[in-house]
Amino acid sequence: MLQVNDLHVTVEGNEILKGLTLTINAGEVHAIMGPNGAGKSTLSAVIAGKDGYEVTQGTVTFEGKDVLEMEIEERAQAGLLLGFQYPVEIPGVKNIYLLKAALNAQRVARGEGEMPAPEFMKLVKEKLGYMKMDASFLQRAVNEGFSGGEKKRNEILQMLVLQPKLAMLDEIDSGLDIDAMKVVADGVNSLRAQDRAILLVTHYQRLLDYIVPDKVHVLVDGRIVKSGDAELAKQLEANGYEGIEESVA
Ligand code: ADP
Ligand code: MG
Ligand code: MG
Repeated sequence: MLQVNDLHVTVEGNEILKGLTLTINAGEVHAIMGPNGAGKSTLSAVIAGKDGYEVTQGTVTFEGKDVLEMEIEERAQAGLLLGFQYPVEIPGVKNIYLLKAALNAQRVARGEGEMPAPEFMKLVKEKLGYMKMDASFLQRAVNEGFSGGEKKRNEILQMLVLQPKLAMLDEIDSGLDIDAMKVVADGVNSLRAQDRAILLVTHYQRLLDYIVPDKVHVLVDGRIVKSGDAELAKQLEANGYEGIEESVA
């Protein structure tokens, strides 16, 4: 589904990704772990098409298409979706309106036409239930006055409604207490599907007790230096990144 090959990315003149190679198949959940500043957020931002990143070498393809040639909207329409590490507040725009506009933009781009309102409400209410969110959240401005945990739940709610093919989630566990993290993890687990892949960026192993990844990659200094299964995350928890950095050096 996603193929990243020898990706080099520069931000403001500094090379951040230095030859990163990664393959994600449909149906898989991959976790990217690594120390602060390794380039984890840069990777998902480049795939999603955020501004400010210069690709100097390498390729990214999604279902065989050249992602780097696609505009940010085209990537979203193709089913690549990045949640926000720091979700933005959008005063004056109701949550329900944003969800509906985003879903219908996707459907129209695919030639499916807008979803009828009753069907949309049914879908949203079902997903709200998964996220243990009250219906009043729909009428509030996007993320305005939401607690950290509510913003994360709202982010997963967006994913559940939009049903991307590749869902990229950056540090969705940061700042969550254990109960909120379980709700968020349940939401992510309910996204798992044969025709969907999930890329989880996380600094801590804790989240991976609840969302068990198929593959774990360790990103250090712009490259994936080690890959393994869920067991690798447990080793990192026990030994930290230092052992890995030393063995790579
Ligand atoms: P991680 O998510 O692994 O903590 P990031 O991808 O956020 O790492 O950042 C990797 C490096 O790139 C860091 O040194 C960071 O300071 C730098 N960086 C990332 N984004 C920017 C930016 N917009 N401007 C300048 N430097 C940036
Ligand atoms: Mg190279
Ligand atoms: Mg980051």
